[in-house]
This record gives sequence, structure tokens and C-alpha cells, in this order.
Amino acid sequence: MSSFWTEGNMLIDGRLVPSESGETFDNVNPATEQVIGAVANATAVDMDAAIGAARRAFDDTAWARSPEMRVRCIRQLHEALGRFADDLRATTVAEVGCPVALTYGPQLDSPVAGLPWVADLAESYEWETSLGLAEPFGMKTHRIVRREPVGVIGAITPWNYPVQINLAKMVPALAAGNTVVLKPAPDTPYGATLLGRLIAEHTDIPAGVVNVVTSADHAVGQQLCEDPRVDMISFTGSTATGTKIMTAAAPTIKKVFLELGGKSALIALDDADLGSVVTSAAFATTTHAGQGCANTTRLLLPRSRYREGVDALVEALKGWPFGDPTDPSVLMGPLIREEQRRRVLGYIDKGIEEGATVAIGGGVPDHLPTGYFVEPTVLTDVDPDSTVAQEEIFGPVLAVIAHDGDDDAVRIANNSRYGLSGAVVSASDERARAVADRMRTGTVNVNGGVFYGMDVPFGGYKQSGIGREMGVAGFEEYLEIKSIAVGAR
Ligand code: NAD
Repeated sequence: MSSFWTEGNMLIDGRLVPSESGETFDNVNPATEQVIGAVANATAVDMDAAIGAARRAFDDTAWARSPEMRVRCIRQLHEALGRFADDLRATTVAEVGCPVALTYGPQLDSPVAGLPWVADLAESYEWETSLGLAEPFGMKTHRIVRREPVGVIGAITPWNYPVQINLAKMVPALAAGNTVVLKPAPDTPYGATLLGRLIAEHTDIPAGVVNVVTSADHAVGQQLCEDPRVDMISFTGSTATGTKIMTAAAPTIKKVFLELGGKSALIALDDADLGSVVTSAAFATTTHAGQGCANTTRLLLPRSRYREGVDALVEALKGWPFGDPTDPSVLMGPLIREEQRRRVLGYIDKGIEEGATVAIGGGVPDHLPTGYFVEPTVLTDVDPDSTVAQEEIFGPVLAVIAHDGDDDAVRIANNSRYGLSGAVVSASDERARAVADRMRTGTVNVNGGVFYGMDVPFGGYKQSGIGREMGVAGFEEYLEIKSIAVGAR
């Protein structure tokens, strides 16, 4: 692998700049616990400047009114991302701790490959639709529906898939004609500052259209939610933070778009091929060490095949390759930080306290003394109402629950405050579809299908969020609708 790339400056009003205070914070590699570099620690003054720049760029430049310019700039960004993919890949592995294998998919290459789709959409989009002539109250009128950008977007993102989420928010927002202030998670700042550098050095995006503000202080994100010059907040993160964001945005009646937590269920129906169920469950548990909002972290097995399923899963996870994320054969890396590891281990203890059994894993691996690793862990005999079946653990911990048929499986799957994702496996596509259609979630995989794609809307029901990211629906989140009535003579 090539050596990784760092960028300690923010992007504010077209310039790569340090914090006005001169302060920085460290970026730590979760696999080695080593500092890989420092990044600007923004203050309220920096955030204020970024918001001001985004406001001016929206109000005073041609950006909001020129789809052609936007499409050209997004294609330039796509080209630059392709050119520097390997530098960005190494940085992503170093700061996120994800296996390099994941960067060839959802951590990097897949979202980058989606940019031309967004540019094509903006190019062919019907910005105005005619509703034709009518005579409301006897007044002859031509009616037109026009779509316009919302304005200044505050994008606040988490650390688990930083490049993917930064692009999934920023690119559709830009294509729609908005300007953006991006505030990434403090754990993974380079996934945003490097985008800032590419934008500044390799695109014609006007100064102020994109601003990247890094800070170790969550209050700087809160400021973005409160400032009246910001028109909309696009947030991905935990449901607890989502509540705070809605509250902070309420006094200025900002549009809020929220992608939040999940506790998704993988349902095996009684005719399912347990081999494919076990493979899916093992990957769902270990992919990015369970630090994915849509990982299926509850496995619902038919009661009659429960032991058979658990034994096969334990067997599969025994030899699971986890460890150094730069090793291409590794399928699972560490958690993002020590605090997160303590939280995950605390959940395992809580599960045991509430009656669950650890079938495999359950602790810190002896052979990996450095890095924030937790073993792939399977909890069996889990009560569907218990803490480990209800709360998002965000670690490699699977809760296995028995069900008594299709209706019972649907009931257990829907027994959650979340509604982000899910999966169903059955020998019959028709039966699996019938179950999938009853799941109260924003996405469902049926018999091994994969929903991910820049053209596929992604988001949650219930406390998993409001709105959709990606797809045409994700693009339209960033548009206002204006109805224009022109009197006909
Ligand atoms: P988090 O909620 O702790 O932080 C997310 C972002 O919010 C960070 O940038 C953080 O600095 C900022 N923030 C924190 N407090 C804030 C405040 N009061 N005001 C404004 N900004 C604030 O989430 P995390 O730990 O970074 O990420 C993990 C969570 O993200 C999980 O719950 C996961 O399910 C969720 N997630 C959801 C999706 C989805 O698409 N639904 C995708 C990825 C992650």
C-alpha cells in the first residue's frame, strides 16, 4: 500500500487554512494507537467564517443558478478522486481502522463510482414542470412548478464510513445548487479535509461553495444547527445526537434530514439454506467490526433449527481473519477508540447479566494487545426485549433470537425503536418477499440481494431517521419547491 495522505487544514472560503486559534487535535490510528497527524481544531470564529462564506457563495455567485457549472465541477471532483484513490485509500485505512478490503467497496471505491450518476441526474433533471393552463377563481393562469436549491446546507457526519457519507451528502447537495459547510467527526477528519484539498486544487468549485470545518468540540457542530444563515442540516450519526440536532435547529425552523442508528434483523425462515444464512450473519457481525448502521445485528433463527444455526455460526467465526487492517486478507479491524471498546464490552456484560450466553468471543483478543480490538461475539438465548436486542451496540456483537414462524419473526423484527434495515432468507423468493414487505424498515435485502448504490434511496423508518440519502429521493431532499402562477392574457 502507498503511504497515507494527510491534510491538517480546513477549507474556508476557498482557502486551506488552520484554525484562527492555531490549535490542533490529534488523529489517532485505532489499529496501532499511534498519532498519524494533527488537524485544525476550529473555534466558533472559524465556524462563523465558514457559514458566512457559504451564505455569500449561495447568494452572490452563479452556483445556485448554473446546473452546467455544477455538473462540470462534480465530474472534475470524480476525476480527482480517481487520480488520488490510492492515497485516500491508505488514509482511510489509517484513520478509520477499516480493513483495506472494504475500501474497494463501500468505504471508498463504490461511493466515488457513484459521482457520475449524480452529475447525470443533475444534467437531465426537470428543474421546471408545467402544470398547464387552468382557471382558478375564473383567472386564466399558466402554472409552473420549479425546483430550487434549499440554500446553505450544514452537513454533520460520523466516523464509521467517512468518505462515503461525506460524498453521499455533499455531492447531491452541490448538484442541486446548494452550498455546504461540512463538519466531520473528530475521529476521522482527513476523510473530509482531503476532499477539501481536492476541491480547492482540482476543481473550479467557486470559493465558499464548499467549506470543511474540523473540530474536537461538538459545540462547533451545534453552532451550525443554530445559526440562522444555515437553511438545512443534513446529519448522520446516533439517534441521541439526532435528537439534539433537531432541538438546536428548531428555533430557526431549519429543515432537518437525519440518518440515525439501527438494530436490524436478519430473518432465516424455516426453509432457508442455513449455510448462506450463517455466511451472511458472520459478515454482518464482522463487517467494519459491527460499526455500520445497517449491519444486521440481530439474527432470528427458526426455533427448530436454532442449535444447528448457532453451531454453524460459531464454526464459521472460529477462523475469522481479524487484525491488521492493512492486510488484504483481513476481514475485520478494530473499533474506533478505547471508549467505544469499553462501551461494547459493557454491552456484552449486560447481555450475560440479562440471561444471554456467549457462544464465541466476548472479550479482547489475546493476540492483539495493541489497537482497540474486540473478538467477533455471538450471544445466544437472547430475550427479544433485553438490552442487547434493543440497543445499538456498534461493535462485532450478534444477538441470536429464536422465532416460531413467519408471523412471529416479523413481530420480533419490528419490535424495535429503529427501522433502518433488515434481511430475509428463504428457499422461496415469494415467501421472503412477503416477509420483507411487512418489515418496518427503509431497506431490506432479500435472499442475498444488496441494496447499496448511489441510485438507491437509503434511510430509516421510526427512530432511524427522517428522509432519504442517495437516489433521486436523496437529491430532492436538497431542493425546495416553488409554484409559480403566471396570469394568461
Ligand atoms: P455521533 O452522533 O456521536 O456523532 C456524529 C456527528 O455529530 C459527529 O460529527 C459529531 O461531532 C457531531 N455531534 C455530536 N454532538 C453534536 C451536537 N450536539 N450538535 C451537533 N453535532 C454534534 O455518531 P458517531 O459515533 O460519530 O457515529 C455512529 C452513529 O452513527 C451510530 O449510531 C450509527 O448508527 C450512526 N450512523 C447512521 C448511518 C445512517 O445512514 N443511518 C450511517 C452511519 C452511521
